[in-house]
Amino acid sequence: MQTGTVVYKNLINGRWVESTSGKVHPSINPADTRDIVGYVQMSVAGEVEAAVQSAKQAFASWRKLSGTARGEYLRKTADIMERRTAEIAETMTREMGKTLAEAIGETARGVAILRYYAGEGQRANGEVIPSADADALLFTSRVPLGVVGLINPWNFPVAIPIWKMAPALIYGNTVVMKAALETTVTAVKLVQCFLEAGIPAGVVNLVSGSGSLIGNILCEHPDVKAISFTGSNEVGKQIAMKALARGAKYQLEMGGKNPVIVTKHADLDMAAELTVSGSMKSSGQKCTATSRAIVVKDVYDEFRAKVIEKMKQIKTGNGLDNDTYMGPVASENQLKGVLAAIEKGVNEGATLVLGGKQLTEGEYAHGFYVEPTLFDDVDPSMYIAQEEIFGPVLALLKADSLEQALVIANDARYGLSASIFTNRLDEVMTYIHEMEAGMIRINGESSGVELQAPFGGMKESSSHSREQGRAAMEFFTAVKTVTIKA
Ligand code: NAP
Repeated sequence: MQTGTVVYKNLINGRWVESTSGKVHPSINPADTRDIVGYVQMSVAGEVEAAVQSAKQAFASWRKLSGTARGEYLRKTADIMERRTAEIAETMTREMGKTLAEAIGETARGVAILRYYAGEGQRANGEVIPSADADALLFTSRVPLGVVGLINPWNFPVAIPIWKMAPALIYGNTVVMKAALETTVTAVKLVQCFLEAGIPAGVVNLVSGSGSLIGNILCEHPDVKAISFTGSNEVGKQIAMKALARGAKYQLEMGGKNPVIVTKHADLDMAAELTVSGSMKSSGQKCTATSRAIVVKDVYDEFRAKVIEKMKQIKTGNGLDNDTYMGPVASENQLKGVLAAIEKGVNEGATLVLGGKQLTEGEYAHGFYVEPTLFDDVDPSMYIAQEEIFGPVLALLKADSLEQALVIANDARYGLSASIFTNRLDEVMTYIHEMEAGMIRINGESSGVELQAPFGGMKESSSHSREQGRAAMEFFTAVKTVTIKA
């Protein structure tokens, strides 16, 4: 067991500074709560103010750099991050519990995102429009917004901040970032890479502390021109109201209740394999994790048996151990929330087939471990079929037909991602037309999408803008329409 006493500071105007609160928060390893990863600042309003003002000042010159020059900073940051992969990934695993393999993959993803957006600095971002006046030139130009506030969750502590920071910066904005309290040490290491790459003071700022204080001030600050938020639906809705009230731009990516549909024409081995990995990897703590499997009755029993067999093989353990498939959940709060949801499932009459309990003996004694959990006989109206659990819990639901499976799949307030397993083109076409989700797959996990493609949800999963790829430009820029007449 390791333990650390390092105190990590805020980054404001290119300098590492302690909060005047004098208070720090321990970042605790959810696999072993005796391991303190480090201490992070519990900042106060003055530090947010200083960070916003430094970002505002830096904006004046950062916006004037060419996209090529800004891209160079992102490229250098990517190289440094790549070199520091082992350290960043280990910190991530210790802070929030995902396996080291997943953390290494996520860090590589962060590097790739930085390189993608470095290239964006050299791509066209406006259009020439034919003018009715033969002597005029009519075109659009994209301009940065100014200081942007980035509020992040703990479940992807590298990929999500980077997919906000990289486009924000390449299009000429400066940023004040707030990481989730659980994963602020990882955020500090990430921001160190920008600093090491020589990014000018004030372009990137990090202020740590409680969301209801730091995040809230960012949302209400008149100099913060846009807020990009990823997190829960409850917090997202509050942010939307605050941003709207003062005319700031906002972008929200929130929860999901992501279904897979399995038809009688599916490859059941593949469907079971990818349903289990989609629901159990990262202990089900991905916004795109599979949480419902809606199975057509003809293949229900066979699919169920295959899922049970695969789930029984899952090795739960410390994410730092090579043979671990599924780590702990990220925090005590998460543990309580997941166990409470499981209890609701049992109380509502679903059949608990596997798991359902906290693991507390032996190697699990000091961590927040939940057994891989499977429910059967789940009715679409039950809590576990409707609400995001954000843990290693899968609900099986039976449908008479593909059409009924789609009705059940769409009967949720969320619409983030979804998947179908079938080898029939007509079923694929029906699904593409009818499924209400921002990202849909055929014969794949419900989770994840390539970095150059738009990422985002429908219904209550999103504010309907998109992250990643070229779509990010829409959010992080404003359009200026220019008419020139000689
Ligand atoms: P959360 O509780 O909403 O927190 C997200 C961030 O908001 C944290 O940095 C938090 O700070 C901050 N925050 C809390 N209260 C705030 C307030 N009043 N004003 C401004 N900021 C505030 O969500 P989480 O538990 O970290 O993340 C899990 C959720 O994120 C799940 O619902 C998941 O589905 C969703 N998620 C969505 C996506 C997507 O792309 N759709 C991706 C990943 C996760 P503190 O934590 O420091 O208090």
